[in-house]
Amino acid sequence: MSGLKLVNVKKSFGAVEVIRGVDLEIADKEFVVFVGPSGCGKSTLLRLIAGLEEITSGELYIGEERMNEVDPSRRGIAMVFQTYALYPHMTVRENMGFALKFAGRPKAEIERQVGEAARILELDPLLDRYPKQLSGGQRQRVAIGRAIVRHPDVFLFDEPLSNLDAELRVHMRIELARLHQELKTTIIYVTHDQVEAMTLADKIVVLRDGNIEQAGTPLDLYDNPDNLFVAGFIGSPK
Ligand code: ADP
Ligand code: MG
Repeated sequence: MSGLKLVNVKKSFGAVEVIRGVDLEIADKEFVVFVGPSGCGKSTLLRLIAGLEEITSGELYIGEERMNEVDPSRRGIAMVFQTYALYPHMTVRENMGFALKFAGRPKAEIERQVGEAARILELDPLLDRYPKQLSGGQRQRVAIGRAIVRHPDVFLFDEPLSNLDAELRVHMRIELARLHQELKTTIIYVTHDQVEAMTLADKIVVLRDGNIEQAGTPLDLYDNPDNLFVAGFIGSPK
């Protein structure tokens, strides 16, 4: 069970409240997409869920467990960022296995996990290459592979495709949809791209100024946007 529940979650940096009381339920294995203008709090919300920032007030549950004070390493979450740093002196195989090796897992287990992630991401032919021998899209797949080997219950993606060119984004979008099918995990995905949101999401959450403006299925929001702000974000005629 890896649904999430946020109850009146707030976050302030100093005197500035940037998350202003978010209530949100995410079902187990749901693919949820956060959209909203730059600075509205999308990354902060992901970081609160991952435990990279402390919640100022409110409650966070993952599955049945209250997670407010739980260490990030024990939340069953993996996060993939827009800018991802692979270790340049390690092969793809070593990059993907590094977290497990660092955790002291046995060699056979590391090999098995890396092998499975490589199969899912179609990285088998690239396992012995170094990052500088890879394209942007291949590197991003390795970054996702590093997260997969840890078998997280929940994946958080913060604009993972925004550094890729348009053609590659389309390809990666299809890959991500397949990944969700195959891994059967809960995914929270931040994007600026309307098409990504419309095609990937079970549920879209439109954020504005630290609040949820509207949440619903892509079709709900497209057909019945509450206001022009929401309509503007999911491409309905104004
Ligand atoms: P988004 O990802 O939607 O563009 P962010 O979550 O990065 O937005 O930022 C939301 C707001 O919080 C912005 O006004 C940003 O300047 C502020 N903010 C984010 N992180 C910090 C921080 N560590 N210290 C102070 N302000 C921050
Ligand atoms: Mg951001």
